[in-house]
Amino acid sequence: MTRHSAFSAPGRFWRGNLHTHSDRSDGVLSPEEVCRRYRAEGYDFLALTDHFIGMYGFPLVDTVPMRSDGFTTLLGAELHSGAQKNGELWHILAVGLPADFAAAKTMSFVPEPGQETGPEIAARAVAAGAFVAIAHPQWSGLTLEDARSIRAAHAVEIYNHGCAAGCDRGDGAGIADLLLTEGRKLSLIATDDAHFSEPDHFGGWVMVKAEANEPEALLAALKRGDFYSSQGPEIRDVRIEGNTAIVECSAATSVVAMGWGTGAKGVHGHSITRAEVPLDRLLGSPWLRISVIDAAGRRAWSNPIWRAAGVNPRLG
Ligand SMILES: [Zn+2]
Ligand SMILES: [Zn+2]
Repeated sequence: MTRHSAFSAPGRFWRGNLHTHSDRSDGVLSPEEVCRRYRAEGYDFLALTDHFIGMYGFPLVDTVPMRSDGFTTLLGAELHSGAQKNGELWHILAVGLPADFAAAKTMSFVPEPGQETGPEIAARAVAAGAFVAIAHPQWSGLTLEDARSIRAAHAVEIYNHGCAAGCDRGDGAGIADLLLTEGRKLSLIATDDAHFSEPDHFGGWVMVKAEANEPEALLAALKRGDFYSSQGPEIRDVRIEGNTAIVECSAATSVVAMGWGTGAKGVHGHSITRAEVPLDRLLGSPWLRISVIDAAGRRAWSNPIWRAAGVNPRLG
């Protein structure tokens, strides 16, 4: 039996948004009001991640004063440096940065000569202790080669609510699946990317399993992949027994297991809270992940489970 570590690690789940902007860059609300709203909506933690570029004074907003009983914050920023294949500036999410993270050579939203590349600034953030994610792949127009180049990334945004609400380009699952198929052990995060200029908030979050709602514990759990992502549904367990994935969840209409290539299988019904998904269609895939979809079409996504070599005869 293989159980995803998010469901075997000690502690409880804490709900947080990892990608948010304030008026310290191009968001509408003050950092204090952003934190107040997330707390009022029942979030346990928030990472404020303003655009780390010169025109905003390289903000790495000190949200420590906004911490209170039952609500904490992680310091972070959205990093920008270097050009993607399409010539546009990289967007890389970094959560858990130190307050003195050195400025980039990026003054505006346009790439300029002499900057670090995207892969370089991502690696610098990881070296400084951050959890790093490839932001909004669909909206950015990332190629697979672009995404592949961010070797330091811990995660990909499988869903960016701001990009979905603002311009119907919120998806990251396609490119994430291709990277997983190349053997990259990435996690999958849903985020808001809220600016509060559109209905771009409270639509995608992570549920992080940790023993305490404290920054260091949350950051360590994020790096381990001890979380799942959601727009609403809860995932309570994901385990593999033999050739079956067993999923326990809040009431759902579909539970889907996915692996490489066309390998996918759904179980459908009414108010499903426990599903047994046969994995015959995922034969040979060294990884699998689970989507849970509720009657309103809202999704939750597990992180990938990596199956031990030899579980499947085609793995040799
Ligand atoms: Zn962005
Ligand atoms: Zn953003």
